[in-house]
Amino acid sequence: MRLFIGGMRGSQPAIGSRFDEFGGDTTSLLVTGSHGERLVLDAGTGMRAVAGQLARTEPGEVTVLFSHYHLDHLAGLTMNPLLYNKQWSFKFVGPAFPDGNVCSAVTGLLAQPYWPVSWKQMSARIEFAEFPAEGIRVGSLRVRGCRVPHPGGCVAYRIEDGTRDASVVFATDMEWRQRTDDDEKSFMTMCSTPRPADLLIIDAHFAEAEKDAFAGWGHSCREDDLAMARAAGIPRVLLGHHAPNADDRTLLAAEEQVRKLSSGALLARAGQWLTICG
Ligand SMILES: [Zn+2]
Ligand SMILES: [Zn+2]
Repeated sequence: MRLFIGGMRGSQPAIGSRFDEFGGDTTSLLVTGSHGERLVLDAGTGMRAVAGQLARTEPGEVTVLFSHYHLDHLAGLTMNPLLYNKQWSFKFVGPAFPDGNVCSAVTGLLAQPYWPVSWKQMSARIEFAEFPAEGIRVGSLRVRGCRVPHPGGCVAYRIEDGTRDASVVFATDMEWRQRTDDDEKSFMTMCSTPRPADLLIIDAHFAEAEKDAFAGWGHSCREDDLAMARAAGIPRVLLGHHAPNADDRTLLAAEEQVRKLSSGALLARAGQWLTICG
């Protein structure tokens, strides 16, 4: 299983040369399975780069799985060239929340007054499905999810490549300090069962020192993330959802701190390909 990071900026894009190293595009990742399966995680502005990677492969079906529908996880749909190409077929899958589901969120954005071209006019085949309690399969990739604390709701996912026995947990937009006992149990079980995931990709919007000032904003701090990974037995951690004002200097300094706490931790960089091995 391989993983491409189109973008992992949080909340809104960051623009300018001060953001070159870690990238300014918001969350969108591409997971490719060992049989060429294609699974996109979230559709932030980083989906432009993801679409660039997809365009190098044979046109066909792509599953786009949403953690939730905040704009920083959705805005990359508007200018995605593959949606305007009839050789491509998109299955949008995501959780239902009291305020909306995958169909209402995507069709609401891809229509007036937000966007001039309606999703109905786009040439690609588009379908919608609610993420079911039992999870989904994309070829040999198996995906299960659990709800995590975030305003309006959010779902974290565990993706396993059945062929290679490799696994990754994708947990963006989660405020760990707001968790209930049930949240903790379900998330830690997902991280560690049937065995600890090989990689944890997680919301690291804040540093420990900032967390009290931003309580209730829906995000976690790096130090808590590393403690979670340690408790779950996950050896590698990729920290993301970088604050929009955190420039390369700030993030490099944060990474240096993080590396002192965990040798398996890195901050996510847009444009990076990672190989996940079991
Ligand atoms: Zn977000
Ligand atoms: Zn959010």
